[in-house]
Amino acid sequence: MFVDSHCHIDFPDLAARLPELLDNMRANQVSHALCISVTLEDFPRVLALAEQHPNLYASVGVHPDYEEGEEPSLERLLELSAHPRVVGTGETGLDYYRLNGRSIADMEWQRERFRTHIRAARQTGKPLIIHTRSPRTTRCA
Ligand SMILES: [Zn+2]
Repeated sequence: MFVDSHCHIDFPDLAARLPELLDNMRANQVSHALCISVTLEDFPRVLALAEQHPNLYASVGVHPDYEEGEEPSLERLLELSAHPRVVGTGETGLDYYRLNGRSIADMEWQRERFRTHIRAARQTGKPLIIHTRSPRTTRCA
């Protein structure tokens, strides 16, 4: 038995193939999968999968690469995390791969978003799902 702890089968290309994906999970003894939220706008899609399939679960959070859309407040994350099918917080973290001409100092918004998710995970007791890519060492005042 295997558990996929991080998948994005709510993404349109994959969601269109959901029956095939669920069959492949069964055929390969993947009994459960955690569908990871990357924006609050897409969270209902992730949650719907978890509500419709007993072996799928959801997380709630906003990925560090997504700058458009609703910025998650602590209150909003706590509210959405209260759903019994939500078992994790994220994905969240730091990603300095695509700075698009900005410096690491300009990425304070990303660090603050990460802190908000950490606070939510600490309050809910649900695991924190961390995305990390090119997290160069930096000192922030
Ligand atoms: Zn991911």
